[in-house]
This record gives sequence, structure tokens and C-alpha cells, in this order.
Amino acid sequence: MMKVIGSIVAMQQEMIQAKRAGKSIGFVPTMGYLHEGHLRLVEEAKKENDLVVMSIFVNPLQFGPNEDFNTYPRDFNRDEQLAAEAGVDYLFYPNQDEMYPAELTTSLTVKKRVDVLCGRKRIGHFDGVVTVVMKLFHIAMPDRAYFGLKDAQQVAVIQGMVADYNMPITIVPVPIVREQDGLAKSSRNVNLLEHERSEAPAIYKSLLHAKTKIEQGERNPQALIETITNMIKDNTSGIVDYVEIYSFPELEQLTELKGTIIIAIAVQFQKARLIDNIIVTV
Ligand code: AMP
Repeated sequence: MMKVIGSIVAMQQEMIQAKRAGKSIGFVPTMGYLHEGHLRLVEEAKKENDLVVMSIFVNPLQFGPNEDFNTYPRDFNRDEQLAAEAGVDYLFYPNQDEMYPAELTTSLTVKKRVDVLCGRKRIGHFDGVVTVVMKLFHIAMPDRAYFGLKDAQQVAVIQGMVADYNMPITIVPVPIVREQDGLAKSSRNVNLLEHERSEAPAIYKSLLHAKTKIEQGERNPQALIETITNMIKDNTSGIVDYVEIYSFPELEQLTELKGTIIIAIAVQFQKARLIDNIIVTV
């Protein structure tokens, strides 16, 4: 039976007991409104650990003032059922006061891998992410934590934090789960208008096109960025927020495509901003 726990102290007591009993803990942090992407992370965690902990917390710190904190989709009853069916052992579901009872007395600031992609426009977003993940890691006490490559910059930033602070946690990146038409699964997809939903697969199509170009010998990042941008402009009503190519996971600029690279896109639709990427080894 899955246990739902809202209290940090209660969660920590459970985890300490589990560790004393020699059990390994796999952790899947989420903001809820679960879909198959989240459930894939649970599947991976179940394979490699004795216990699986999922958290559901829409973290206000990682939303900017003009972002979608209020309209972010939420449905706890549905999530609880999906998590239980997926085999989650502990569902940590704290409220805001539990996580942030008072102003923090210290702060974490991301210094690298943050002045590109989503970090460039979403000022403070990754500071909010590392702050909540640091807290969650001290609550769930995982051996391994599972993060989707859908948010590849998040993976890179968290890997940086874990290395910086010698956290005894293995970060496991999990490939992107997609709809049949290629659209990356996202809780935010429900906020797409009907015509936007039918245009949205163009984002992944443009990434696949870029991959083919690379396979055919293209090595100029700027040329690919132009091709992708035009494909999205021509096939969607969304506004291209960025199309960028970097080394991965360092997220450093490239003059020529070489090594492991990420091609990443963000497109702003009316009520949802979508991101997608592919990672390719050239
Ligand atoms: P979120 O609830 O959107 O914060 O996502 C929680 C975790 O699920 C993050 O590690 C995401 O990267 C991951 N995730 C979200 N969507 C997908 C997807 N389509 N495929 C794989 N992982 C995903």
C-alpha cells in the first residue's frame, strides 16, 4: 500500500527507518498532473531500488511573476491513483507552509549552465529548482534520483549541484516520453488550444530534421538553428522563444558540431510554453 505523507519530519523518519533496514531509495520529484513521462521515471526507479518515493509539489520559487504558477494544472486525487498503480511506495505531498514556513536564511544560486536556454529568460528559475531539490533530497534521502531529459538543462544544473556539494546521490537521466505524434509529454500540454495542439508536433519534427542534417554531414550550428526556426515559424502559430545548440551537459557554445550536443527549443503558445530537445553524439 502506498503511503501519502505531508509532513517533512514524518517522511524523514520513514526514510531513516528504511535505510536502517538496508533498503535503497529511488526518488522521483514532480509537480504533479502525472503523465507517462513521470510514470517512466517511476518505472526506472522501481528497477533499481527497493523503495520508490515520489514527491508532488508545485514549487512557487521556480515560477517567475508572469509565469503560470496559478494556472499550472493540478489534480491530486488522480495523481494519487496513478502513483499507486505505478507502484510508488511513498508519495510525499507537502503544502507550501510545510516546505517554506519562513523566509530562508541562506540561498542557493546557480552559477554555471544557467545563462543559456530557459535560464536566460527565466531569471531565478533554476535557483528555485536547486533550492527545492536540495530540500527534497534531505527529505527523501535517496540513493538515486530520476530526472527526465525533457528538462535537460535541469538535469545538467542538478548534476552540477550534486557534484559541487558531494551529495551521495546518483542522478539518473531518463529519455523523453512522447505522444504518438511526437509531441513531448508535458503537464502543460492541456493548456494548448486545439489548433496549437495539432501544430505542436512540428517542434519534434524540426529536431528530427536537424538530426538527419547532421547525419548527412551538417556541422554548422547556425545553419541548423535557422532551418529549425523557419520550420517552427512556418508550421505553428507559436512564438519561437529560442532555438539553441550547445555541448551537453556543459552547455557551452560550439562553433562546429562535435561530441555530444543538445539541440533545444522553446516555443511560446497562448497559454503554454513548450520545450523540447534532442541530444546527439556527432
Ligand atoms: P514536472 O512535474 O514537469 O516538474 O516533471 C517532473 C519530472 O518528470 C522531471 O524530471 C521532468 O523532466 C520529467 N518529465 C516530464 N515530462 C517528461 C517526459 N515527457 N519524458 C520524460 N520525463 C519527463
